[in-house]
Formats: sequence, structure tokens, C-alpha cells
Amino acid sequence: MTDIASGTTIAAAVAAARDHFDSGATRPLAWRRHQLEQLARLLRENGPLIERSLWQDLHKSATETQLAETGVVRGEITHTLRNLNRWTKPRRVALPLSLQPASGRLVREPLGVVLIIAPWNYPVQLLLAPLVGALAAGNSVILKPSELTPTVSSTLAELVPRYLDAQAVHVVEGGVAETTELLTHRFDHIFYTGNGAVARVISRAAAEHLTPVTLELGGKSPAWFDDDAHLDQVARRIVWGKFMNAGQTCVAPDYILTTPDRVEPLTAALGRAITDMLGDDPAQNPDYGRIVNDRHYARLAALLDGADIVTGGQRDASSRYLAPTIVHAPAPGANQTEPDYMREEIFGPILPIVPVNDVDAAIEYTTARDKPLALYVFSASVTTRAAFISRTSSGGVGLDTPMLQAGIPDLPFGGVGASGMGAYHGQYSIDAFSHRKTIVRKPHMVDTLHFAQPPFTPAKRNIAAKTVK
Ligand code: NAD
Repeated sequence: MTDIASGTTIAAAVAAARDHFDSGATRPLAWRRHQLEQLARLLRENGPLIERSLWQDLHKSATETQLAETGVVRGEITHTLRNLNRWTKPRRVALPLSLQPASGRLVREPLGVVLIIAPWNYPVQLLLAPLVGALAAGNSVILKPSELTPTVSSTLAELVPRYLDAQAVHVVEGGVAETTELLTHRFDHIFYTGNGAVARVISRAAAEHLTPVTLELGGKSPAWFDDDAHLDQVARRIVWGKFMNAGQTCVAPDYILTTPDRVEPLTAALGRAITDMLGDDPAQNPDYGRIVNDRHYARLAALLDGADIVTGGQRDASSRYLAPTIVHAPAPGANQTEPDYMREEIFGPILPIVPVNDVDAAIEYTTARDKPLALYVFSASVTTRAAFISRTSSGGVGLDTPMLQAGIPDLPFGGVGASGMGAYHGQYSIDAFSHRKTIVRKPHMVDTLHFAQPPFTPAKRNIAAKTVK
């Protein structure tokens, strides 16, 4: 078991990962394929253990774990194994006539030793989906699971070395102290998923070694609603996306913008959808999650202080239960201070509905804030959808549905601005974890380079004037 807690063992893990990478062992496609197959085996053979761990840490149901945690990773593995040859094949590149005779190639090479730091909300998916890309690209990896989901962390620390090449993949458990220690070492890439404040700490540490980073962050993801004809269907989809994992999802709709006349019908429809999907008392429903720890529970409870709660609001500190809750937010610019729940990412089961005059006001509200990870438009109007797409910037856009844009293997998943930098999934993970190396060969046989070398005779100047356009 590679459960590492002290500075010396962290150094030993990084050194072992480096040595193994330097030995060339991780480069062959056969090794990469085998690791991916082994990771699939790990997930297949330990499904119930992983599901129990997530239940323990987050009250996450087995079905939700299969869909949103292990299923996502297994989908990534299958897709990557199917396409690995094509994605990693060197590519011939045509060179300009003026350089002929010559040949050019683009070769993907692994970066080296990669550090993957994961958060607690999807602690399996967000640790292992980046791992798929890192292994597929031929790297050694240090995995740092979140300490806030300790059962998942120890389960993975126990399983990973049993299935994967233990010289190449190391799990470092622990919290801030261990991550801080890890960050003193030189990595060839750091892939961090979590919040913007820690992302700044990571970026500063990475800068010391000029290490490139991928930052998968969060923030407030807005949703616009004006689709009266599909009121109930939209409400169900929003409730599904918002209250999955008790709202602790980076791409969950954070709040809904709609016109004042739609606030009441939408609130009623959301209430019906909550009852329909989670029952009269979601506390009794095994499909509804819990808040990860007391600190986050207290933070969310404080956000509700003085809020205009129209649905839900029930809570229980001892089990960290917070009911699916809808609040009516004041109109922006109304003569009131903005509530805290409209200033920070909610990251819990609280859904504010914000009245704005029209699409323009909603777009203005959105663009005045940090660029979100996701933006959702629930509208039957092509013009409205096009307006949001062309006039706002976000990591991705979901039209008529939340969440799905984050899980498509052939589409990059990542943020922009405050919601992150870089992207992954499928081929984009290979891009994230490898370097595209340019290779050019100029044979000696017909030495046309002669014309580019001094002395620049009138004849050469003439040729240069004709070839350089
Ligand atoms: P977290 O508290 O588990 O932190 C993430 C990792 O950072 C952990 O491994 C932790 O040990 C490490 N860490 C914490 N403090 C540190 C410090 N001072 N120095 C070094 N390392 C430190 O998770 P979190 O940040 O609370 O996660 C929630 C956030 O992540 C939300 O903002 C959410 O939107 C975002 N998120 C983004 C994505 C995405 O894919 N873009 C996915 C999930 C969550």
C-alpha cells in the first residue's frame, strides 16, 4: 500500500515515479493499454466497495456512483482504448515548397511525472478520469485524493497499487500539509480540480518550477428560463442537475434568471419536481445526498439566514442534511445589498431564482461576473439561445439540459477565466498530458539551404525575393 504521509515518503514516491518514467517503462503503447485495462478491472471488481465508500462519505447512492463516478471513468477508458492508436500516431506534416526537399512530423511525447489533485465532490471520477489521460499519454503519476472524503481516499490508496504499475502510479493521502509538501517537488504537469483560492496556491508553487497546470475550477453557473411550454420538463431537469449529490456539483445550475412573471410558475413547478423525484421528505430518500462536512454545512446554513425561502429549508446538523431549497432572490440592483448566496458559489442544495427584466438584462448580469464553468439556457427561442452563446463566455453551454456537456468523451471539458484553464476528456486528455514535438529533417542530398546562407550574392537575393512572400 502506498499510503504516504511523511515528507521523506512523499519525496520517495516522487523520485520513484521519476525514475520509472526515465527508465522508459511508461512509454510503450502496450504498457499504457495494460494500465487502462487494469484500471477498468479495478473498477469492475471493486464496484460494491467503492459504492460503500461513497455512501459513507457523501451518502451517495450506488446508482448515482455507477452513473456519475465509476461509469464516467469506465466510459473514458473504453473510448480511450478504442482510439489510442489513432490519437498517439505520429503525423506527417506537409512542408512549404521553399523548404523542399524536407520532411516534417508531429510526435506526441509524454510529459513525465504528473501530479493530479482531486476534490471531494466526485472523489472517484475527478481523480481517475484525469488518470486515464495521464496514463494513456505515457506518464508516471502521483495521485492526491481529497482528505474531505477519507473513506474513498483510503479505498483508492489501497486499490490503486494492487492493480496499476506501483512504480508509476503513487497515491499520496493527506491534506494541506501533504499537498504543500508535494508542491515543493518538480512535476512536469499539475492537474488540479477544486476551488479558485487553492488554484492560486497551486499556480504559485508550479511557477517556481515553470510547471504547466490544468485548473478545473468552479464558480457560479447561471441558468436562463423562459420556456413556458416545457415548464414541467425543464423543472425536472433543473431539479435533477441542481440537487444531484445535494448540489455539490461543479456544473450544477447555481441560480436561475427569469422574468418576474415567470418566478411563481417556475417555483411551483420546481416544487412539484422535487416532490416527484425525491418524495415529500427527501431526508428519508436514499437517493438524496448529504453535505460533506460540518464546515460546509455551517456555511450553507448561514447562506439561508434571512433568505426568502419558498421551498425546503429543513435541515439537520447531526446528519448534515439540507433539504432541496428554493429561495427568491431580490432583483439585481434593487435597493438592497446582494445576499451572500449571490456572491459566492453555493455548492449545495440551495437554488435562488433571480428576477430580471429580459434576456438582455440576464446577459448583462452574467457578463458582469466571473466567466462561469457552465451556462444553461432553457428557452424555445433560437434567437435567445444564440444570444447567450454569442454574447457570453463560459466553459460550456447546456441548451435545455444541465450537466450533459461535462461528460461527452469527444468534447473538451474545462473552464475559462475564473472557472479554469485547460481542458480534458478523450483526446483532449492526451493533449493535456503530452507534448506535441515537431520533427523536421532536411536531407543533404539537394542542399537548398545553401541559398539561405551567406554570402548573399545577387543571385541568392533574387531567389530570396521570389521565395519569401
Ligand atoms: P477540496 O477542499 O477537496 O480541495 C481540493 C484539493 O486541494 C484537495 O486534494 C486538497 O487537499 C487540496 N488543498 C486544499 N487546500 C490546499 C492548500 N491550501 N494548499 C494545497 N492544497 C490544498 O475541494 P474544493 O476545492 O472544496 O472543491 C470544490 C470546488 O471545486 C468548487 O469550487 C467546485 O466548483 C470545484 N470543482 C470543479 C470541478 C471541475 O471539474 N471544474 C469539479 C469539481 C469541483
